[in-house]
Formats: sequence, structure tokens, C-alpha cells
Amino acid sequence: MVHHSVCPICASENIGLQFSCKDYFTSSKDFAILKCSQCGFLFTQDYPAENEIAEYYESDNYISHNDKAKGFSNKLYRFSRSVMMSRKKKLIRKITGLKTGTLLDIGSGTGYFAGTMKKSGWLAKGIEINERARKFSISHFGLDVATPDKISSFDSNSFDCITLWHVLEHFYNPFTYISEIYRLLKPGAECVIALPNCSSFDAEHYNQFWAAWDVPRHLWHFNPETFSLFSEKTGFTLEDLRILPLDVFYISQLSEKYKGSSLPFIKGISKAAYFAILSVFNKKRSSSVVYILRKSGV
Ligand SMILES: [Zn+2]
Repeated sequence: MVHHSVCPICASENIGLQFSCKDYFTSSKDFAILKCSQCGFLFTQDYPAENEIAEYYESDNYISHNDKAKGFSNKLYRFSRSVMMSRKKKLIRKITGLKTGTLLDIGSGTGYFAGTMKKSGWLAKGIEINERARKFSISHFGLDVATPDKISSFDSNSFDCITLWHVLEHFYNPFTYISEIYRLLKPGAECVIALPNCSSFDAEHYNQFWAAWDVPRHLWHFNPETFSLFSEKTGFTLEDLRILPLDVFYISQLSEKYKGSSLPFIKGISKAAYFAILSVFNKKRSSSVVYILRKSGV
């Protein structure tokens, strides 16, 4: 079990219980979410150690390669995935200013994003801890995907872009990882980090039922303010914030289910549409935020 006696970001001892959250995904156990009264950072307390966490991921829902699954929601899922992949590709091209280049996707999962980049001419590699997902991405997309321990053997200054789509919140050692990412990027290159936003409209509405607390798999619960404090300690410059507009639809439906509401799909979709419109005018309260970090240099 991992217990924090000080804030993981500012080291203040003024940390206290914000509320308890249930693991609706696998264990049904309760976990405490703590808040630092000095810097406002929220984090999970007393979560399983790294060598005990695997059982909390044991569900087919975490690996979605149901490419042939039928039914409306699966079709909708595949459609939204293809929309998201094309948006992410455009985003990477825009922020790097490159049509092709070298890219490392950390937490590449089943490889859809790295596969999309590869198809459009990028030299895309992945890092993935889950063996099934890794094998799928190699056989399905012909990707070069390594296990996380291999990252230290990659060459310094070798990538034009490194992406982490909803993975940093799972890492036991985010500061160590981020300095490794810094080493791997070329001078002036970007790192793109997507994270759930615990100050979002949907997080406020669903409170302890908000699906993106996702304890004990999510260890850190960032918002734009606390991510900015985190990034100050990494050597990167926080350059910009973007939003992923479709995440809120998935999170809201799941949160409705966790709340035990009737018609979770309809209610989730309609509330998500409202939250999505509000976030267009206030990006810092979007369900997910994409942070663009730049390494110093040319
Ligand atoms: Zn703090």
C-alpha cells in the first residue's frame, strides 16, 4: 500500500480528506482522495503498491479491441474513436508544425493512435505495459511497441513529439517519467499530455460518482492550476491547453451508471452535451485537458 504523508507536488504536510470514492470498475473498495491545502493538489491515498495493482485492471473493458462487436454502442464507440484519432493527428501536426516526424506514444494501448500516425507517414513507436494490448498493436498495425523498462535505452534527443493520452495519472513515478521524456525529446520539441480535469463541470456535477476519479487506478487528479505547478518542476514550459471534446460523453454516461441512475445513456449524453458547450467558453473546466509542454532549445 502506498501512503503519502506530504503533498506529492509541494511537500506540504497540510493534506486532508476531500472525500471517499468507490472503485466501481473492479473491487468495489473505497479509497480516500486527499487535498493539499497549500497548493490544492488532489491525489489518491493508501492505494495498492505497484506490484499489487494488476488485479485492479483485470477487466476486458480496459482493453477494447472489440473491432467486430456488433450493436449500436460498439458502432458509436468505433465512430467516435475514428473521429478522435483524426483530431489527435491534426493536433500533433499543428503543434509540431511537421507533416511527418518521429513520435513516441507512451501507454499506447491497442495502438490506434500510433497506428494512425504511422499510416500518415510518421515514424511512430509505442510503449505499453499490457502484454495483450502490446501484441495486438504489433499484429494489427505492425507497430514497434516496447515494454516500459526499455524507455531508458532509447536515444536522447530523438523524438519530435511524445504523447501520453490519459496515462500520466496511472504512473507511480510521474516526476521520474517526465524527466525521461525530457531527455528523449529533441530540443524545442513538444510533449502532449491528456488528463482528466477534476475541476471540470462534469466532475463538479457528479462529485464522488465522477467516473474519472477511477480509483485506485488514477493516482493523481490534476486540474490546470495543479498541472501548471507540476510542470514548473519538470524543466518544460507549459505552452498551451487544448480540450478533447468527446471524452465528456463517455465519462458522463459512466458516471450516470455509477450513480445508479435510470437511463444512464440518455441522461449521460444530454448532460455531456451541456457540459461540452460550457467548456467551449471555459477550456479550464473541460472534462479532459490536453497540456502542451515544450522542451527548451531551438
Ligand atoms: Zn501541495
